[in-house]
Amino acid sequence: MKKRTIPVFVPHLGCPNDCSFCNQKKITGIEKKSVSAGDVHRIVSQHLKTIEREHTHIEIGFFGGSFTGIDKALQEELLGAAQSYLKEKKVDGIRLSTRPDYIDEETIERLQSFGVTTVELGVQSMDDEVLMKNLRGHTAEDTVRASRLIKNSGIALGHQVMPGLYGDSPEGFRETVQKSMALSPDCVRIYPTLVIRDTRLCEWYRAGKFTPLSLSEAVDQSKEAVLAYRAHGISVIRVGLLASDTISVDADVVAGPYHPAFGELVESAIVCDAIISELSEKNEESVEIKVHPHFVSTLVGEKRGNIKKIQETYPSLQIKIVQDDAINFGEWRILCI
Ligand code: SF4
Repeated sequence: MKKRTIPVFVPHLGCPNDCSFCNQKKITGIEKKSVSAGDVHRIVSQHLKTIEREHTHIEIGFFGGSFTGIDKALQEELLGAAQSYLKEKKVDGIRLSTRPDYIDEETIERLQSFGVTTVELGVQSMDDEVLMKNLRGHTAEDTVRASRLIKNSGIALGHQVMPGLYGDSPEGFRETVQKSMALSPDCVRIYPTLVIRDTRLCEWYRAGKFTPLSLSEAVDQSKEAVLAYRAHGISVIRVGLLASDTISVDADVVAGPYHPAFGELVESAIVCDAIISELSEKNEESVEIKVHPHFVSTLVGEKRGNIKKIQETYPSLQIKIVQDDAINFGEWRILCI
């Protein structure tokens, strides 16, 4: 079953917060553009024309600012429009993202009454000092409380976490991941911190007060987080920034570990570590690694980085990559030759 999310961008007009990494305030201040039920119908019906219903799990996703922080009447208008597709069984779910401190019992009841199936919380960090330094305006305890309310309601819980925030460290982010896992999210997104134009972080970066993670640091921290979540059966649905209505990569990303295929880099690093570890159990001079043709680039890595790393670890080993579509995508078989 394929999965498709129809994205509906909802700017958080008048967001009272000023999170260090977010340019929403500036952008919404300029555009003053909201979304209506009509927009939801237009976007959803356009997307539905291009999706094969039978073999696809389809969701409508409200992304952007903090959905449950926008005007209540507008929330109901947008959710009502989305729910009509749910009732007609044209889609299977409705998901939205919001802040942990914008979730309470009344909000949960509203979301349930409109059939919302997943709520993603912008957790970012579980360290109060990091949250404070990044002007988040909520605490880790808010995340704990909101996560429990969502889980207890039967709505699926999503967490979004950010390695590389101002004032954080690899150990601090590791702890964030541990504390997030303890709340049993159903899915997770990992967004390495980038310096976006017109943000506090950008001011601090230009003033020399903030240094973003390098690409390899961000890959390492994300890789560790992905492995930890997966080991707990938690699905990681996105690693790395998705260019959106608020962020154009070319125009807005000033610095930081941006890569157009960041998730692929992380996946590739995971595969490389696994193969190096598997090879340590073999004592061969020459091996053949069989993979699905579509998985070759992940296995080989960017600029053949994985092959170089394997070769550095086992300098005398001869490696041959063989494409074999009998092997499942994402798996490999090492044969001694
Ligand atoms: S991240 Fe969300 S809460 Fe923070 S400033 Fe941006 S829109 Fe507001």
